[in-house]
Amino acid sequence: AELPVQYADYGAWQRDWLQGEVLAEQVAYWRGQLGGQPAALQLPTDRPRPAVQTFKGAKEVVRLPASLADSLKALSRQEGSTLFMTLLAAFKALLYRYTGQEDILVGTPVAGRDRVEVEKLIGFFVNTLVMRTDLSGGVTFRELVGRMREVALGAYTHHDLPFEVVVEELQPERDLSRNPFFQVWFLLQNASQHVSFELPGLALTPLGGEFQSSQFDLTCNLADSPAGLHCSFEYNSDLFDAGTVRRMLGHFRSLLEHAAADPDRPLRSIPLVTQEEQSLLASWNDTRADYGQAECLHTLFERQAARTPDAVAVTFNGTELKYRELEARANQLARHLRTLGVGPEARAGVCMQRSIEMVVALLGVLKAGAAYVPLDPEYPRERLDFMLEDSQVSVLLTQQALLDTLSPQTARVVALDSDWHVISEQSGDALRLEMSAEHPAYVIYTSGSTGRPKGVVITHRAISNHMLWMSDEMPLDAEDRVLQKTPLSFDASVWEFYAPLLCGAQLVMAPPGAHRDSAALVRHMREESVTVVQVVPSMLRLLVEEEEIAECESLRRVCVGGEALSAELVKRFRERVDAELYNLYGPTEATIDASSWRADGTERVTIGRPVSNVRMYVVDESLNPVPVGVAGELLIGGDGLARGYLNRPGLTAEKFTPNPFGEVGGGRLYRTGDLVRYLAGGELEYLGRIDHQVKVRGFRIELGEIESALEADERVRQAVVVARQEGGESRLVAYVVGEGAAANGLRARLKKELPEYMTPSAFVLMDELPLTPNGKVDRRALPEPEYLRPELEEAYVAPSNAPEKRLAAIWQQVLGVEEVGVEDNFFDLGGHSLLMVQVLGKVKLERVFEQELSMIEMFQYPTISALVGYMERAREEQLSRAKINERAEKQKLAASRQRQAMKQRSRRDV
Ligand code: AMP
Ligand code: MG
Repeated sequence: AELPVQYADYGAWQRDWLQGEVLAEQVAYWRGQLGGQPAALQLPTDRPRPAVQTFKGAKEVVRLPASLADSLKALSRQEGSTLFMTLLAAFKALLYRYTGQEDILVGTPVAGRDRVEVEKLIGFFVNTLVMRTDLSGGVTFRELVGRMREVALGAYTHHDLPFEVVVEELQPERDLSRNPFFQVWFLLQNASQHVSFELPGLALTPLGGEFQSSQFDLTCNLADSPAGLHCSFEYNSDLFDAGTVRRMLGHFRSLLEHAAADPDRPLRSIPLVTQEEQSLLASWNDTRADYGQAECLHTLFERQAARTPDAVAVTFNGTELKYRELEARANQLARHLRTLGVGPEARAGVCMQRSIEMVVALLGVLKAGAAYVPLDPEYPRERLDFMLEDSQVSVLLTQQALLDTLSPQTARVVALDSDWHVISEQSGDALRLEMSAEHPAYVIYTSGSTGRPKGVVITHRAISNHMLWMSDEMPLDAEDRVLQKTPLSFDASVWEFYAPLLCGAQLVMAPPGAHRDSAALVRHMREESVTVVQVVPSMLRLLVEEEEIAECESLRRVCVGGEALSAELVKRFRERVDAELYNLYGPTEATIDASSWRADGTERVTIGRPVSNVRMYVVDESLNPVPVGVAGELLIGGDGLARGYLNRPGLTAEKFTPNPFGEVGGGRLYRTGDLVRYLAGGELEYLGRIDHQVKVRGFRIELGEIESALEADERVRQAVVVARQEGGESRLVAYVVGEGAAANGLRARLKKELPEYMTPSAFVLMDELPLTPNGKVDRRALPEPEYLRPELEEAYVAPSNAPEKRLAAIWQQVLGVEEVGVEDNFFDLGGHSLLMVQVLGKVKLERVFEQELSMIEMFQYPTISALVGYMERAREEQLSRAKINERAEKQKLAASRQRQAMKQRSRRDV
C-alpha cells in the first residue's frame, strides 16, 4: 500500500516539534537522570584497556530453560513490570556484583515506531536510552525490579530526544577508551515475532553470522521464545577472554535462578559461584602437606645440628660458628635464661645489632621455651618503651654498646657480649623441655590504626609449617649461603635465619646498615658468594641497577615480597640477573608468607597460590566467595594463622573471624584487608588495599597511627596522612588543620615517637580539609604538596664551594625540592634511605669527591656542610698519612742504604 508519509516528512516533523519548551523539557529530564558525571563501569578485564577503544569482538551463548523464563515472567507480573525490566534488573545486579559499583548505567535501544504513520516506513527510528539505576542500600532483587520499572517508564516517556543531542547537551567528560555514559548494552528481542517471516516461493532459514566485532565492552542480547531464553554476551575481545565471558554467563544464570526463586534476598548475597566453579576453587585450596606432628622450631634446628655438627652454620664479619658451636652456645643461653625464670608463654626482648650473638639470642630464647620480641635499636626510645611495656618481657637481651640508648628497665637485662662469661658457665647440652608447638615462638609488632602498634603472636606450629613448606618449595643444600639482612622487627627476617639453619646451609650475616645500602649489599653478596637473598621491590629496583650485580655469579635465587611487584621490575630483573625470582605474599598475621609465585615467562605478575596447609578465600562484603576474575577481600586460614594480637582480644576477634567454609573443620580466617582476585589458572592477583594501611618502601604503616600521633599535639585540630605515588615511589604527606601548628615542630614530635619510615616527607597546613558529600574527608581532593624547601628550624644557608654546590644540585634533583641549604638535614627535607642510595650513586658517578664515600658515612653526616667538612678532613688525613708514609718510606730507604753501606764496609773489613 502506498505509504502515508516518507522518512523526510518524519525528519521535518521531528525538527519542527523538538524545539522550545518540548526540547527544554526533554533535556531537563535527561540532565536530571545523567548529570553529575557518572563514573565509568569498571568491569574487571583480562587485559589492560587500550588507550583508544577498539571494536574487536566475539560472542558466547547460553540457552536458559523455559521454566526459568516462566518464573521470571511470573515475578514480573507480581511487580507490575515487564520481562524486559526484570531481565535488565538482573543484568544490572550482575554488573554490580562484578564491579562493586552501585550506580549502574546501561544503554538500550528503543524502536521509535510508536506512531501508526511510521510503523511501515523504511528508515532509521531507533534511539538509544540510557538506564541509570541506583543499587545502593542493600537492595533486594524485588526492590531493584521496582526501581528498574520507574527508571524504564521515565525513559520511555522521554525517548524522543536523540542520544546524540543528549551527549551534546550534557557534555560528558570525553575519553577515547570508552563510550560516553554507558559501556554496556542490553537488548531483549521477542523472537516469536520473527519466526513467521515468509516470502512467496522462497524458503528462509536464519544464518548465524560470524561475530568479529563488538560495539561496546559488553552486550547482553536476550531473545524470548517458547523454547526458553536465548542469551548471548557479545564482548570486546581485546578486554576479555572467551573463558571469562563463559564464566560470566554462568554467573548470570545462577543469579537469575536465585533471584527468581528468592527475590527478597539482598543482591549482595545472591550466590553467583556455580557448582563447577566451587569445586575448582576448592581444588586450588587443596594445599595439604603432611609434615607429621607439629614440632618446635628449635627442635628442627637441633636435629640439623646433630646431622652436620662440623659444618659452618653462621658467618659474620670474618667470624664463623659451626653447627655444633651454635647449638652449644644457644643451649648455654637457654639454661641461663631458665635460671632467670624464662619458660613457655614468657617473652624475652631482643634488642641487638646484627651479629653472631643475635643468632645465639634467638635460638637461646626458643630453647628456653619462650617467645622473642624483636626490638629495633634504631626505633625511638618512646616506641621501644611502649613495646617493652606492652609485651611484658621478663628479660631483655642486648649488647653492651646499646645499654645507654635504652631506658632503665624493669626487666632483667642480659648483655650477650659483656655477660657471656656468666652465661658460658652453663652446660652446652640441650635442655629437655616438655613443650608443645602451640606455644608462641615470637611476637612481632606492626603499626596499629588506632595509634598504638600491636604485637602479633606466632606459634611454633605456624612457623614450623612455614619453614617445612619452604624447604619443599625452595630447597637449600650444604652449598647454599643465605643472606640475613632484614631487620629483626620484620617477620621476613625470620626465614632468613631458619631456612639455612634447618637445612645445613650457611647463614651469612650482613654488616649492620647494609640492608639500606644497595652497593654495600651487592658487594657483600659477591664477596660472600651468597646464593639466596630476599629484598622488598623498592630495594630490588636499586639492586638491579648496581653494576656489580653482574658479578654475583653465585646468586641463584631472589625472593621479593612485602609490597606489590611490578611487571617492569620483573622484566628489568630478567635483563640484569640470572637467578630465579619468587614473589612472596603475606601479612605478619599469617606467618611471613601465605602464598608464593615463581616468576615465569608470563608478563602478568601474581602472588601465586597458597603455601602448604594454608587456605585462601576471596570474598565479598558478606563473606560470600566471589567468582574467578572478580575482586574481593582475601581471607587466610590454615596452619599459618597467628594466635592473635597480644593482650588485644577485641581486635583479635575483629580480624580473625570464624571460618564459614566448614570444609577444614572450623577454625578461623584472618581478614587481610587486601583486595585480590583469582585469575583463571588459579593464581591470585594483588590489586590493592581496602583500608588505610599502606606500604612505603616495604614498611607496613597504618596511616591512622601517624594521624593519632599528630592529633595528640594540642596545636593540631585534625590531621590526615596519605601515601602519594610519585615516580614509582610512595611518599607520606600529612595534611594538618590547627592554630600555630608548624611543620618543624610536628616533625620533631613525630621523630620522638615513630620510626623514621613513618615520618611524613611533607606537611601541608590547611584551613580546612575537603569533605565528600557525606561528610568524610575526601582524600582524593587533597592538594598536591609543593616540594619547596619546607619550613625548617635551620635558616637557609646557600652552598659556597664547589662540592657543596654539586651536592646541593644532586639533593634537589633526588628530593624534588627547589632550594636546598647546606645546613638542611636530608631527612627533614623528606629524604629516606633509598633516596640516599640514589644520592650516593650520583655522587659517585659525578665524582664529587676523590675518596670513597659509604652509605654509613652519609647517614652520619646528613647535612651538606657536615658531609663536605668530613670529606675534607678525611682527605687531609689521607694526605698527611701519605706524607707520613712518604717520610717513612724515605727513612726506610735511607736505613736500607745505610745497612747496605755497612754490609759493604764490614765485608771490606773482613
Ligand atoms: P607485613 O605484615 O609487613 O608483611 O605486611 C603485609 C601486607 O603487605 C599485606 O597485607 C599486603 O598488603 C602487603 N604485601 C605483602 N607482600 C606482598 C606482595 N608480594 N605483593 C603485594 N603486596 C604485598
Ligand atoms: Mg609479609
